[in-house]
Amino acid sequence: MNCPVCETAMIEEDLGGVLIDICSNGCNGIWFDWFELEKLDETHEGLGKALTAALQSSRAKDDDRGKIKCPKCFNPMVAHLYKSAKEVTVDECYVCGGFFLDSGELKVIRENFMTEEQRESYVNDIIAGQSDFQEAKQDLEKQKLRTAAIRKLTKCLRPSDHFRK
Ligand SMILES: [Zn+2]
Ligand SMILES: [Zn+2]
Repeated sequence: MNCPVCETAMIEEDLGGVLIDICSNGCNGIWFDWFELEKLDETHEGLGKALTAALQSSRAKDDDRGKIKCPKCFNPMVAHLYKSAKEVTVDECYVCGGFFLDSGELKVIRENFMTEEQRESYVNDIIAGQSDFQEAKQDLEKQKLRTAAIRKLTKCLRPSDHFRK
C-alpha cells in the first residue's frame, strides 16, 4: 500500500497481532485499519521497530496540505482535530474506517492525557460533525463499529492507560 501523502510504499508492521502500515521510507506517517484496531490489546505495550522509529520522527506540517485520499479505498479522507492535543488532526476514511496520522502526531496523542469523559465527547463530536455524510448516518451498525474503533484508537495509543488500571 502506498502512503496517501507522499506515495512511498509503506512498511507493514505487526503490533501485537495488529497490522499497521508505516511510511518508513517517506514521510513517517502511520496508517491504522479499524478492523485491525478492534484486535488491539489495550494492555499491549511493545512497539515494533518501524513504529518506534516513526514515533521519533519530527512533526510534519500538515495544515497546508490538501485533503488526502484513502490509500485503501481511494475515497477522500476527513480530517478532524484530536481534542486534547489541539494541533493534531486525524485523517479518517469514513468509508473503510482507516486512520492516517502524520509524522509526529501519534507521539503528541500518546503524550496528551484524555479522560474517559473527554474521550466520550470527542467521539460524540465526530459523530455530530458527520451530518453531511449520509451513508454513515444510514448505516448505524457501521457507525457503531467506527465509534468503537475511534474509542479504541484513543485508548490504546496512550501508554499512561496501562498504569491507571
Ligand atoms: Zn508518506
Ligand atoms: Zn478508505
